[in-house]
Amino acid sequence: MNVAALNLRRHYDYMSEAIDSRIAKCLEHQRWILGPEVKELEGKVGEWLGVKECVGVASGTDALLVGLRSIALKTKGEEFFDEVDEILTTPFTFSATAEAILRAGAKCVFVDIEAGSFNLDTEKVRDYLREHGEKVAGIVAVHLYGQSCNMDELNEIADEYGIFVLEDVAQAFGGKWSGGKLGTFGTAGAISFFPSKNLGGWGDGGMVVSQDSELAEFVRVLRQHGGKDKYNVSYTGYNSRLDSIQAAVLLGKLGYVEELNAKRRKIAVYYDEKLRELEGLVCPEVHEKAEHVYHQYTVRVKDGKRDAVNERLKAAGIGTAVYYAVPLHKMRLFEKGRVVKGDKLEVSERASGEVLSLPVDPLLNMEEQEYVCLQVKEAMKGS
Ligand SMILES: *Cc1c(COP(=O)(O)O)cnc(C)c1O
Repeated sequence: MNVAALNLRRHYDYMSEAIDSRIAKCLEHQRWILGPEVKELEGKVGEWLGVKECVGVASGTDALLVGLRSIALKTKGEEFFDEVDEILTTPFTFSATAEAILRAGAKCVFVDIEAGSFNLDTEKVRDYLREHGEKVAGIVAVHLYGQSCNMDELNEIADEYGIFVLEDVAQAFGGKWSGGKLGTFGTAGAISFFPSKNLGGWGDGGMVVSQDSELAEFVRVLRQHGGKDKYNVSYTGYNSRLDSIQAAVLLGKLGYVEELNAKRRKIAVYYDEKLRELEGLVCPEVHEKAEHVYHQYTVRVKDGKRDAVNERLKAAGIGTAVYYAVPLHKMRLFEKGRVVKGDKLEVSERASGEVLSLPVDPLLNMEEQEYVCLQVKEAMKGS
């Protein structure tokens, strides 16, 4: 048997009517750039998340970048951050998070993660701020694998130091903290609609969300060349718009997100039950205030056995993945230049050698879930 990490063809079969009818409307009106679907999606996502402002952009990466630049425009009155402005983030994330910080002009400071949630360790964030607080402009908080960072702590820290929090919600669309949806806690949130995300389009797409209308206005200006009127611009902007046809696909799929996230959570419960007792394997730890939406179901394989177990699972037809084998501070781009290691980053380094993500496609059937667990048991035994 083969169990893919994600079978998008199956997703299309499941939702094709809802999507096709939306696409058909685009074919009628032919308004491909910032057409009616983009506005409708912005409204519906805003309603669903409980956030005032939503602005569709061309990718999750652009949502981070344009989000940061809008914060610079609002708080500093400058187009970019300066290299003396430090922005804290985790080294245990996709490179786009830190890339956006550098492209927004700031210095990127890596602070280590908690072993349990794989998210920013707020004690270490406090330690860094105690020493260097006056240089720090803000924090980019990544909700990794679909689980919320500790937003109580982060918002308390942000208030204390008067700094911003930008939530990287790329992996956690629909995830919650204390009953509220992610993206609504920080100064702003950046969402990705990359095809494999919990709400994925048929190409690239993203969105900046915020309760702050002034900030959202800067996002609207920057996504369209830097002017309210694109033929008379004020700032160094981008061509970063969400396509109408992507918005149409996303509108069709939005109605399924709640159900599919619930299915992911159910698979996670099953995996937890079957795998919890395995020696040398650690199932995901979830904070009591977090509602994890399992963009990834990621275990730790201890004792240096991760790669061997991974090979065995791949040979058994299981679509595993390692997110992330190389923490950002070990990558050439982030080894020097406008980058600081805020602490030893040991927890991130250990995680990069132990993590293994198992298929958690919400449409996996029972037989496939059983097969994954059986093969994980076999692979652990044989490694
Ligand atoms: C996917 C992802 C991004 C980037 O989103 P794109 O839409 O691919 O540009 C940023 N941060 C994290 C944590 C991601 O997983």
